[in-house]
Amino acid sequence: MLKNKVALVTGASRGIGKEIALTLASYGAIVIVNYNGSKDRALKVIEEIKANGGRGLAYQANVSDSGQVRQMIDDIKEEFGSIHILVNNAGITKDNLILRMSEEEFNEVIDINLKGVFNCLRSVSPIMIKQRYGRIINISSIVGIHGNPGQVNYSAAKAGVIGMTKSLAKELARRGITVNAVAPGYIDTDMTKILNEDLKEAIKQEIPLKRLGEAQDVANLVVFLASDNSSYITGQTIQVDGGLGI
Ligand code: NAP
Repeated sequence: MLKNKVALVTGASRGIGKEIALTLASYGAIVIVNYNGSKDRALKVIEEIKANGGRGLAYQANVSDSGQVRQMIDDIKEEFGSIHILVNNAGITKDNLILRMSEEEFNEVIDINLKGVFNCLRSVSPIMIKQRYGRIINISSIVGIHGNPGQVNYSAAKAGVIGMTKSLAKELARRGITVNAVAPGYIDTDMTKILNEDLKEAIKQEIPLKRLGEAQDVANLVVFLASDNSSYITGQTIQVDGGLGI
């Protein structure tokens, strides 16, 4: 379905990004596994892609650094000739109640989760515009739609990602490029492992489907949005949340 498509997945060394990278590769895409600190884990993802007969490359770059992002995109273009699919997945949390949230905690989350997405969009867009083809998928969160106590920084960034998705979808539609956002609910990854068991149980009771999501639940939707089966869908934010954010 994605044979010979070149896909860049940011933050693909672990969690949701890793599963997206493996799934895109299983459908035939050549996958660039971007990471920031987890080199060994990124190399393992590439090993797994290759063991399954796929192609890919691990690439270190901090998405909040526009120079590093530009270099990464240039290098991918040089090596593979193009980028067809961009998945902006890299993200962090630095939770605190507003009275305790430091300026650093606010800035760091905005820099990685919002400006990081902008950096990648800006560097990849010229390539996609020139080839008049592209699939962009931004990973937001239901928290960007509904809010969450202790996550003023994170929800602002994730709401910003939804705004960018809508604007860019309108900007790039005439060039054969679709831009959509995915808003996961609670997905079982390192990011949610920090929640204690009692809280996890309480969250499960709130979720109509009565379970946390798996990274694969998100990856399945991303593959659809990255494929030509979704060519008439753009500017949308689709929730993968077991019904939590209805
Ligand atoms: P995770 O397990 O903590 O993984 C985060 C990934 O982002 C890692 O691969 C990490 O790479 C990468 N990353 C962090 N900072 C980076 C930077 N500056 N530059 C490049 N990569 C960076 O998180 P996750 O749960 O898979 O979340 C993935 C995305 O889904 C995030 O955008 C998150 O906000 C969103 N999301 C998650 C949930 C959830 O319940 N898990 C819910 C809604 C939305 P290194 O380890 O190499 O630094």
